[in-house]
Amino acid sequence: MGTLTELFAPERIAVIGATAREGSIGRAVMSNLKSDYNGEIVPVNPNYEEVMGFSCVGEIGEAAADMAVIVVPPKIALPAVEQAGEAGIKSVVVITAGFGETGGDGASREQELKEIAADYEMNLVGPNSLGIMSTSNGMNATFGPENAIPGELSFMSQSGAFITAVLDWANDEGVGFKDVASLGNKAVLDETDFVEHWGQDDETDVIIGYLEGISKGRDFIDTAREVTQDTPIVLVKSGRTDAGAQAASSHTGTIAGSEQAYEAGLDQAGVLRAESVQDLFDAAQMLANQPVPENNDVAVITNAGGPGVMSTDAVGDSGLEMATFDQETLDEFAEQLPPEGNIYNPVDIVGDADVERFRDALDIALADDNVGSAMVLSCPTAVLDYEQLAAETVKMREKHGKPVAACFMGGESVDASAEILSDAGIPNYFDPSRAIGALDSLWEYRQIQRRSYDEPAEFDVDREAAREILERVEEREDNRLGVEAMGLLEAYGIPMPESDIVESPDAALEVAKRIDGDVVMKIVSPDILHKSDIGGVKVGVSNDEIEDAFEDIVTRARNYQPDANLLGVQIQEMADLDSGTETIVGMNRDPQFGPLMMFGLGGIFVEVLEDTTFRVAPVSEAEAREMTEEIKTAPLLRGARGRDPADIEGIIETIQRLSQLVADFPAIMEFDINPLVATPDGVDAVDIRLTVDPEKL
Ligand code: ADP
Ligand code: MG
Repeated sequence: MGTLTELFAPERIAVIGATAREGSIGRAVMSNLKSDYNGEIVPVNPNYEEVMGFSCVGEIGEAAADMAVIVVPPKIALPAVEQAGEAGIKSVVVITAGFGETGGDGASREQELKEIAADYEMNLVGPNSLGIMSTSNGMNATFGPENAIPGELSFMSQSGAFITAVLDWANDEGVGFKDVASLGNKAVLDETDFVEHWGQDDETDVIIGYLEGISKGRDFIDTAREVTQDTPIVLVKSGRTDAGAQAASSHTGTIAGSEQAYEAGLDQAGVLRAESVQDLFDAAQMLANQPVPENNDVAVITNAGGPGVMSTDAVGDSGLEMATFDQETLDEFAEQLPPEGNIYNPVDIVGDADVERFRDALDIALADDNVGSAMVLSCPTAVLDYEQLAAETVKMREKHGKPVAACFMGGESVDASAEILSDAGIPNYFDPSRAIGALDSLWEYRQIQRRSYDEPAEFDVDREAAREILERVEEREDNRLGVEAMGLLEAYGIPMPESDIVESPDAALEVAKRIDGDVVMKIVSPDILHKSDIGGVKVGVSNDEIEDAFEDIVTRARNYQPDANLLGVQIQEMADLDSGTETIVGMNRDPQFGPLMMFGLGGIFVEVLEDTTFRVAPVSEAEAREMTEEIKTAPLLRGARGRDPADIEGIIETIQRLSQLVADFPAIMEFDINPLVATPDGVDAVDIRLTVDPEKL
């Protein structure tokens, strides 16, 4: 789609459907444009000669504009867009609603809109958009009640109402914007396009947004992770409903919903997620104005013991840590502070501290290499001039080039100093935990910048063999495959114990003798989802017990479902569960992000324990490694309580190989390996289950 520079910097805007009628959207757009825009405005409406002082043209073709804002009723919106296309206009903002969001007629109208936009190669915003703004040319092409003030944040939102609320607040707070875009239904331009554009825009320091969904998940990840190297992206979490949740027949399908995909996808994209609107702006303002810290150790300088403890707690809840000072620093503190002070972090410079003592302590702390960032935490006292303290805090931040947050507690007495601070890009908060949270987002961003995004590995696999196995599903009444499809794992180089499927006790005994030792026996049937639930799995069966076990398994399966399609009994070599851990590796497809890989603690209680983690595939080695590190029971794999560590490298490779399998075969809708037994000597996939869509084969 190319860059959106022209979209935000038009020279002549045509408002199609412009009118001066009180209460109309056309009027609101006209008066917003009129207020500040430094380009030309051309109302288009065959019914008028002039609108609000601008001479009106009857057709867009006469407007000689480079942008069209569409505010006509839905029924005539399509021809209006088409005419804009014929007039050579590439930038189109469709404010008109009544498209995809209404279903039925609207949905097909939206489809047509997409086609027109594609034909004319338009950068089209909306439909159902509040409009767009850019403070660099004073353009407010929205029907909202307020203009944004200039600043360095660019803001996109899937909710137009949210934009109006945010601007109302931001104008009070003095928070400014470069560009604002209401995405509407995202028929053409979506979040990925705006992120890409603002990532290249020198005047945008931070991209913020409110999204309810991501249109092209993988594209977004790939684009955003490049942008975030220079331009942070902060998105507020929206309460998403689990629209993607469908009847799933795998463990992964049951657990992996759209929220998991969203979370994993945004994380992989290098997006910071804010929990609330307040968090969003706290983070955005910090990121726009402060340097990023080199480490996560924070120094707290305070004249009050109690709030100092509160800040320690807040640090504990964040990704930051309380800095440990160098001996040199401690010596300097000891020299400078009164004996009743505390030279360790939080540094208590005592209630009678004046501005000099505060400044010197901050100076000493920031000079310490162990300190990545600092917080000035003060309560009002008679000896403390808040405004001077603010000025000195700003100076120290400049001197050391490290991020500083302020927590000057108090009411009115703080106002003047807070202004001095905020003019220098240092936010002041009443609550220590908010100040720490803001510093924490800087540290989070630092880590995102340090990430390396390596390409997913490509393993040498046997795709043809895999395809043949998947094609067997075409002979089935349903679309599920179980352990009879274990050959898939072989084709993709995933280790598994020796096994075979047999139809008689004699054949079973033969396989068991070949395996040499006790075996596991399992019912093989597409109709039986959870084999052990119906007594269809027997572990540790000796040769003598094979015949009885065979009959027993088959009888249980018949009792469970008389007409079940029984494909036989699998005889399988035992995996070493004594020294091994049962893990699960799986995949479920998300409507927005595509294949979502899951890793977690496996076995038959997966859904109960839900100790799982997710990544959008394809998964790189580094991402697969993170997955093995971030589940709660990761210490178990690393060898807790004297156990030998499991073959984590084997797990990492299995995750990557499975990621390649599901990328190679879009027909695989869901997939579990559960368990993948991870022992110190390697991994063993002992059970698989998958759902295949034969039409995609
Ligand atoms: P299902 O998940 O359908 O119940 P599984 O094949 O996963 O069937 O078997 C259930 C449980 O039996 C596994 O979680 C594991 O504890 C045990 N098990 C299955 N196969 C083996 C094996 N080859 N070696 C050791 N234990 C096994
Ligand atoms: Mg299983």
